[in-house]
This record gives sequence, structure tokens and C-alpha cells, in this order.
Amino acid sequence: MIDEAATDFEAVHGARSSGVWAAPGRVNLIGEHTDYNDGFVLPIALPHTTRVAARRREDGRLRLYSAQGDGTITDLALDALAPGVVASWAAYPAGVCWALAEAGFAIGGADLFIDSDVPTGAGLSSSAALECATAVALNDLYELGLTAPELALIAQRAENAFVGVPCGVMDQMASACCTDGTALFLDTRTLEQRHVPLDLAAAGLRLLVIDTRVKHDLGDGAYAALRAGCERAAELLGLPALRDLPAAGLEAALDRLPDELRPLVRHVVTENGRVAAAIEHLDGGRIAELGPILTAGHASLRDDFRVSCPETDLTVEAAVAAGALGARMTGGGFGGSVIVLVEAERVAEVSAAVEGAFRSAGFAAPVTFTAVPSAGARRVG
Ligand code: ADP
Ligand code: MG
Repeated sequence: MIDEAATDFEAVHGARSSGVWAAPGRVNLIGEHTDYNDGFVLPIALPHTTRVAARRREDGRLRLYSAQGDGTITDLALDALAPGVVASWAAYPAGVCWALAEAGFAIGGADLFIDSDVPTGAGLSSSAALECATAVALNDLYELGLTAPELALIAQRAENAFVGVPCGVMDQMASACCTDGTALFLDTRTLEQRHVPLDLAAAGLRLLVIDTRVKHDLGDGAYAALRAGCERAAELLGLPALRDLPAAGLEAALDRLPDELRPLVRHVVTENGRVAAAIEHLDGGRIAELGPILTAGHASLRDDFRVSCPETDLTVEAAVAAGALGARMTGGGFGGSVIVLVEAERVAEVSAAVEGAFRSAGFAAPVTFTAVPSAGARRVG
């Protein structure tokens, strides 16, 4: 796939690329909707990546081609880039160039060829993979010397301010910073991070990712509304962020909030607690104990945060009923993917149970793969 990116670059741009870079998609084990509340998350990078073959240009132009695009090159003048100017998928890589320039790292131009096997819009963060692959390529091509967390912040700024999606920092940090064989325990306030070993195979376990292939359109506006609700609750409680509300103070805090904000706050506080519990189990070598934490996290997203949907609920229900250790939707919600922790010998049984449940409900067949904790953004060729 790496050689292919270099060959395809040449066919599209008519010159040889200087290198190939890759950045992965991610699934979050636990800690959902906590990143914009200054809380804790625990993602892993997927083996699925977005590759960027690239070379410098000296004429201030950014020429972008994606194998997942419409077969044409998007040709942009770097000095004309501004939020709202680029409407297509090209806003993600162009936004990275814009955010770099805003941070004082203007580049002279680039040709990019992009190819990806991260499913788009499936809650697996193809957008962060595209941003981070672009960022790491430009960082090397122009010897900018930025660290992986710094590149993640550039990528997040591109998505927030240039593309216009008010996401937290988890997706970009996961894509930029994860390492092979570990989960990333991240404090989204301090950006302090720890790579926690996660050898599923050695424990006789598998992590399935089941893409429900559902994306409900209410997603984007609903995400912004949830985020605003959390920020409003923190303000009413006189806290910088919901992360500052300890579990012991939850009940008293809920009494001080209007009805509609209570379930949001309950989710965020209990979810931060679930990340802490998950870390304790991983540090103690008890990976299977994550199962009930995942399922409890899903119940909280379904009943309190209300971002699940019939397809994700059915996946979790069917998987757990068929003997999975635990399951939850992952990503922002309103569709997307579900992760399932399962003993290796039960994979076939659990997958078949979910497929059967989808058939009975009249839902289109889901797509299932096994996830192993993989490496973050890097040069690959
Ligand atoms: P997710 O990040 O969960 O996959 P998003 O809606 O955040 O979903 O991002 C998906 C969007 O990112 C796509 O609609 C497209 O605009 C862009 N994108 C991601 N990967 C690629 C790619 N390989 N080529 C072109 N655009 C891409
Ligand atoms: Mg995304």
C-alpha cells in the first residue's frame, strides 16, 4: 500500500514523491464525550491508516488529490486559505496548512496524494487520520520540528476553526500519539499521557469493531448542543469544566441544575470514573474486567447522554447476550461503530448473533473487524 501511494502520486502529480506518511483511525475504549469537558479518555489506534505521499513545492500552491475523492486535483493558493474558503474534503488537509501558518510555521507549498482504508463517517476518525497524516508529512518535508502532541493540536485547530467541527482533542491525539500494543491514557486538560500496555491476544481476548454503517444526520448539530449543555452546567456550578466535579459531589451538584442538564453531568462524571476504573484494571493485568465497564458506559450514553441509536443499542444487546464480556458504542454517536470485548473462542458466535439480530430487525448488515492497538502517525516510506 505504501509503494502504491508513491506510484499513484507520480501518476497524478507527474513527479516523484519525497516520501510516504501514515496516520491511523482510532477507537476509544472508554471516556466518551469527556474530552471537551477536560476529562479523561483511553483510545487505541487502529491498523487502518490514511497514507499521504508528498513532496514540497516552492510556488505557494497546495495541490491535493484523494483516491477517495472525485478524481480531480484540488489546487489552492496557500496565502488565500481562510476558514470557509474550502468547502470539500480538501478543507481537512488545507486546514492543517492554514493552522500551521497561524502557529508561525508557514510552508512553501506541497503536492499530496492521499489514500485511506479508514472507513469514513463510521466513528473511526478518518478525519483525524487525514489531518494527522498531512501534518506529519509537512512536519518532515519542511523540518518544522513539531512533536506528536503539537501536531495533534494543529490538526484539532484545523478541524475546529477551518473545517468548522467543534470536536475535542481525543481523535487527533490518538492518531498522532498512540503506539503499537498500547492504549493511550490521556488527560485532555493537561495533555499528560501514558501508554498503557494492552496485549489482548496474550489474554485470550479480541476487540471487535462493528461498524453499524448508520450515520444519522442530526449528528453534527446535536454534538454542538451537547457540548454547549455541558459547558452551561459547568458554568452554573461555578466550575472551569465538568472534569472538576468529583464523583462524591455529584448528587449535590445535580440538585442545583435544571432537569435537562442533569443527565449530561451524570454521564460525564461517571464516565471519568469508568476511565479511572479501566486504568486500574489494565495496570493490574485484568483486561477482561473492562467488559462490564464498557457495557455500563454504553448504558450511560444511551440513557443519560442519549447519543446512541437503535442500531448501536441492538449491537450491544445482542453481543452481550451471546456471551461477549462487554460492548459499547464508540465515537460521537448517532450511529457509527460499536466495540465488543470477547473471548477469542466466542468471536464467531458473537458476530453471528449480531448479524442475526440485524437481519431480524430489518437493518442492513454491519461490517465487523478485529482491532489491535497500533502505531500513531509516522513516516512509512
Ligand atoms: P469520521 O472522522 O468519524 O470518519 P467525519 O465526518 O469527522 O467522520 O470525517 C469524515 C470526512 O473526512 C469525510 O466526509 C471526508 O470529507 C473527510 N475524509 C476522511 N478521509 C478522507 C480521504 N481519504 N479522502 C478524502 N476525504 C476524506
Ligand atoms: Mg471525525
